[in-house]
Amino acid sequence: MQKITILGATGSIGASTLDVISQHPQTYQVFALTAHRQLDKLVELCQRFCPRYAVVETEQDAEVLQQQLTGLGLDTELLFGDAGLCQVASASEVDAVVSAIVGAAGLVPTLAAVKAGKKVLLANKEALVMSGALFMQAVREHGAQLLPIDSEHNAIYQCLPCNYHEGLQQVGVRRLLLTASGGPFRETALADLAKVTPAQACAHPNWSMGQKISVDSATMMNKGLELIEACWLFDAKPQQVEIVVHPQSVIHSLVDYVDGSVLAQLGNPDMRTPIAHALAWPDRIESGVSPLDLYQLARMDFYEPDLERFACLKLARDAAEQGGTAPAILNAANEVAVAGFLAGQIGFLAIAHLIETVLQQLAVQSVTNLQTVLTADQQARELAQIWLTQNCSLARR
Ligand code: NAD
Ligand code: MG
Repeated sequence: MQKITILGATGSIGASTLDVISQHPQTYQVFALTAHRQLDKLVELCQRFCPRYAVVETEQDAEVLQQQLTGLGLDTELLFGDAGLCQVASASEVDAVVSAIVGAAGLVPTLAAVKAGKKVLLANKEALVMSGALFMQAVREHGAQLLPIDSEHNAIYQCLPCNYHEGLQQVGVRRLLLTASGGPFRETALADLAKVTPAQACAHPNWSMGQKISVDSATMMNKGLELIEACWLFDAKPQQVEIVVHPQSVIHSLVDYVDGSVLAQLGNPDMRTPIAHALAWPDRIESGVSPLDLYQLARMDFYEPDLERFACLKLARDAAEQGGTAPAILNAANEVAVAGFLAGQIGFLAIAHLIETVLQQLAVQSVTNLQTVLTADQQARELAQIWLTQNCSLARR
């Protein structure tokens, strides 16, 4: 029986993970579930999965929830804050940690799991984008096993030989090809992009996901973050990672070898496949995903990304090449911009403008320790907030 902690259990990845786990009650047991503020949902999950621990943001919420769960006859213990998240990510009883908190908030608890040498199933790409060098160093030093569940990276992982750690060149890899759906605005007239609404941006054509990653997919910042994620996971140079727009989202990514072979992983767009792959690795288990019907699919299309339309993708590639704290700055500015867009404070096109301005304003530092990363994150958020306030008031005038 493997004991699993799910960081971000009430989100979209959390739900898919619990769906897979519930299909294999003899193999997986939930050890801890964490949520930020969706308390009702967490109560429901605790009733279904009876975890040893549940973690919320504040002490007050923890007390309220503790009473509620005890009243329901559950012996789940409530913890709170970063300390609670780190405790359940690193507890000695835990076999695997699913890192599915959205944004920078996932960094510290995910690192705690890594430093405890856990098997870490990584969805929280922002953690790796922010602190890639330190994160990968910690993985090596503490013998953690890092398995990507972001679908593209999981696909690449499946297409690489198991000795890829020796170096991509060593194992004959020429390029990594990351596929992208192009999001809901792939064909929207450029002139109309300024007016698109949060609801339109969140209506992804192929995937049902949390709001932040849905907006990131619409701007293609998601693919930019994934480019940086791929560089760290597979020790690739940014120039070795190519983005291919593939609107059907059936090929989840590809590896191009020097002999001309190109290996791809295909499947219906459903996160339960990469989650089941990572949970069971190196074995295979049922995920509940229906088999791919190639006759029904009939065709697949591929396009080069339009960098004028998707300015965020260019900003991310530049940050990847610059290195140091540039990706952390990019990520923090993006988080503030997306929150501003979702709150109706700024328009869709302002997301890229905000990020570009913050990147120009902050000097990039080399990353020596976690504090450098957290400081860059904080400074970028402050500058982004100032930009947001100024441009928000301009918009109202
Ligand atoms: P979501 O918004 O649906 O869920 C986020 C989860 O994180 C929730 O459980 C929420 O309670 C928790 N959370 C939010 N802010 C928090 C904070 N400050 N502290 C602690 N917990 C907090 O997001 P999602 O779509 O499930 O995505 C989660 C992560 O997985 C993101 O990093 C995303 O990029 C990545 N990812 C998601 C998908 C997908 O299909 N949804 C695919 C690939 C990668
Ligand atoms: Mg992805």
